[in-house]
Amino acid sequence: MAETEFDIIIIGSGPGGYVTAIRAAQLGFKTAIIEREHLGGICLNWGCIPTKALLRSAEIYHYMQQAKDYGLSAEKVGFDAKAVVARSRAVSGRLNMGVGGLLKKNKVQVIWGEAKLGKMGEVIVANPTKVPMQPQHAPPRGTLGAGTYKAKHTIIATGARPRVLPGLEPDGKLVWTYFEAMVPPAMPKSLLVVGSGAIGIEFASFYHSMGVDVTVVEIVDQIMPVEDAEIAKIAQKQLERNPEMR
Ligand SMILES: Cc1cc2nc3c(=O)[nH]c(=O)nc-3n(C[C@H](O)[C@H](O)[C@H](O)COP(=O)(O)OP(=O)(O)OC[C@H]3O[C@@H](n4cnc5c(N)ncnc54)[C@H](O)[C@@H]3O)c2cc1C
Repeated sequence: MAETEFDIIIIGSGPGGYVTAIRAAQLGFKTAIIEREHLGGICLNWGCIPTKALLRSAEIYHYMQQAKDYGLSAEKVGFDAKAVVARSRAVSGRLNMGVGGLLKKNKVQVIWGEAKLGKMGEVIVANPTKVPMQPQHAPPRGTLGAGTYKAKHTIIATGARPRVLPGLEPDGKLVWTYFEAMVPPAMPKSLLVVGSGAIGIEFASFYHSMGVDVTVVEIVDQIMPVEDAEIAKIAQKQLERNPEMR
C-alpha cells in the first residue's frame, strides 16, 4: 500500500477520533488521523482538561483563604492570573504530547491539515484555513501534510463548535467563547455567563473563586438543566449563598 493509502482515515483527533484510530491500528488496520489544529481535540486542549486545571488553582486559592479554619496560616494570599493560565496550558500541553506519543506507539500516521471529502474513497487535505486559537501546542513530528489520500473507510470525528447567539457575537474582548474564557489576560471585575450547563457553571465557579462578580443567566427554571433536578437545586442554593454570585 502506498504511503498515501490507508484502510481507515479518521478526520479529527479529539477523544472520538484518537481513541478510534488507536483501536483501529491495534486491530491491524493501516490507519491515519487528520488534524488541523490541536491533537486531542477540544477536550484536551480547550475543554475538559484545561478547565479542570483552572478549577484546581481556584480550589487551592479558596482553601488558602480558609487556612485559619484548619489551624494553618497563610499570609498575603493572592494569585497571578497569567501564572494560573500558564499552568493550565502546560497541563493541556502535556496531554496533547501524550496523545502524539500514543498515536506514534500504535503506528497511527498523523496527517496535519484541513480535510475535506473528495470522490469516493478519497480525502483531500489542504493547509489549515482556520486561524488557530493561541497559544497553540506544536503539531507532532513526522506528520504528513497537504495532499490527496485514499482510504477504504473514512470516519468523521470533527466535534462541535461554540454556538453564537444573535446580538452576542464573540469579539474576543467583551464577548467571549470558552476559548477566551480559558486564557484571560487578567481577571475581569464582573462576568455574565450565558447558560448554566456544566461548562457555564464551571466557568462561573472558577471566576467567582478568583474574586469576580459573576451573574449566570439561564432560560429554564433551574440551573444545570440536564442534571438531576435534586442535585441542581442543591448546587443553585450553594451558589446563591455567595453575595457576588447571582
Ligand atoms: C470548556 C469545556 C469543558 C468541557 N469539559 C468536559 C468535561 O469535563 N467532561 C467531558 O466529558 N466533556 C467535557 N467537554 C466536552 C468535550 O470537550 C467534548 O465532548 C469532546 O471534546 C468531543 O470530542 P470529539 O472527538 O467529538 O470532538 P473534538 O474534541 O471537538 O475534536 C474534533 C477535532 O476535529 C478537528 N477538526 C475539525 N474539522 C476538521 C477538518 N476539516 N480537518 C481536520 N481536523 C478537523 C478539530 O480541530 C478538533 O481537534 C468540555 C467542553 C468544553 C468546551
